[in-house]
Amino acid sequence: PLRTPFTAEALVTSEGPAQRRAIAKTITLLESTRADHRAQADELLTALLPHTGKSFRLGISGVPGVGKSTFIEALGLYLIGRGHRVAVLTIDPSSTVSGGSILGDKTRMEKLSIDERAYIRPSPSSGTLGGVAEKTREAMLVCEAAGYDIVIVETVGVGQSETAVSGMTDMFVLLQLPNAGDDLQAIKKGVMELADLVVINKADLDKDAATRAQAQITSALRLFGHHGNPAHAHVVHGSHGGHGTAAPEAQWQPKVIQLSALVGTGVDAFWDAVLEFKSVQTANGRLAARREKQALAWMWERIDAGLKQAFRQHPAVRELLPQAIAQVAAGTLPASTAARNLLASQAGQA
Ligand code: GDP
Repeated sequence: PLRTPFTAEALVTSEGPAQRRAIAKTITLLESTRADHRAQADELLTALLPHTGKSFRLGISGVPGVGKSTFIEALGLYLIGRGHRVAVLTIDPSSTVSGGSILGDKTRMEKLSIDERAYIRPSPSSGTLGGVAEKTREAMLVCEAAGYDIVIVETVGVGQSETAVSGMTDMFVLLQLPNAGDDLQAIKKGVMELADLVVINKADLDKDAATRAQAQITSALRLFGHHGNPAHAHVVHGSHGGHGTAAPEAQWQPKVIQLSALVGTGVDAFWDAVLEFKSVQTANGRLAARREKQALAWMWERIDAGLKQAFRQHPAVRELLPQAIAQVAAGTLPASTAARNLLASQAGQA
C-alpha cells in the first residue's frame, strides 16, 4: 500500500510551498475512497489532532450572487493584513447532487488565492452531503494543524448544507441582500435561526433598503431568541470589552450589520463583531460547549452513515431490498414491517 509521503510532524512544522503541498496531499488522501488510504488518513488525523482546535472557525452562507466570494476575499485580505493566516474551504451542495458546481466554476477570490498566507480549497467534488461535509471538517483540522488560525467554511444557500456548516463552525454568518423577499426565504427555511450574525451586503446599492432589511431581520432574530435552537440561545446581555469583564451568564445576542464587500466598507466592523462574539462565548463557556457537542454529533452522524452503508451492503438485505421497496411503494406492505423484516434479515446472518 502507498505510504504517506510525509508525517504529521512535517505538515505541522513545514512552511511555504512544501507545507501547501503537504496540506493538498493530506486532503486528497482524506477524500480518497480507498480503504487503505482511509486507514492512513485516520492515522494522520489522529496524529494531527493535538495541533488542531486553536483556530477560529467561521461559517459563511448566502444565496448565489449575494457576494460571498467578494466578501471572503475582502475579509481574507483584511485578516492577512492583521497577521492572520486564513484557510477557506467550500461545501458546494450541487456537487453532491449532480457532480456540477454552483460555486466552483469561475475563478474566485483571485487576489486571496495567490497570497502565501491564504489557503483556498474547493468543495470535494462528489458524494453525499454528509460525506462531503465530513471531508470538509477533516480538511479544516488539517489546515488548523498547519497553523491557519482563521478557517472560513463557505456554502451556498440551498439545501441542508447550511446546517452542516453551522455544525462544524464556531460562528455562523448569513449574508443577505438588501431586500425583504430574500430574508423571508431564509426565515422560511429555518436558516436565520442558525445565524449568529446576519450581514446585509451590497448596502452601497440601496442604503434605505439595507436599513429596512436590517430592522426587519433584527426583530425576526429577537423572535427566534425565545424559541430557537438552544445551541444558539439568545443573549441576556453581552457585557464585554475587556478581559474577564463578561459575567459568566452573559450570552451573545445575534446581530445584523450592513456591509459592502465590493467597496470594502464594514469589513472592520464585521471583524469587531466576530471578536466580540468570540470573547462573550469564550467567557460563558459556550464556545467550548459548542465544539464538544459538534464533535460528538459528528461521531454519531458517521456511525449512522456507516451502519446504513453496511446494512445496504449486507447480502441478505441486498436480496430482499428490491422486493421490499416495491411492496412499500405499492402500499402492500407497511413501511415499518418492511424495515423490521430487513433489519431482522441482517441480524440473522450477521
Ligand atoms: P457569490 O455568488 O455569493 O460568491 O457572489 P459574488 O461575490 O460572486 O458576487 C456577485 C456579484 O455581486 C459580483 O458581480 C460582485 O461584484 C457583486 N457584489 C458583491 N458584493 C457587492 C457589494 O457589496 N456591492 C455591490 N454593488 N456589488 C457587489
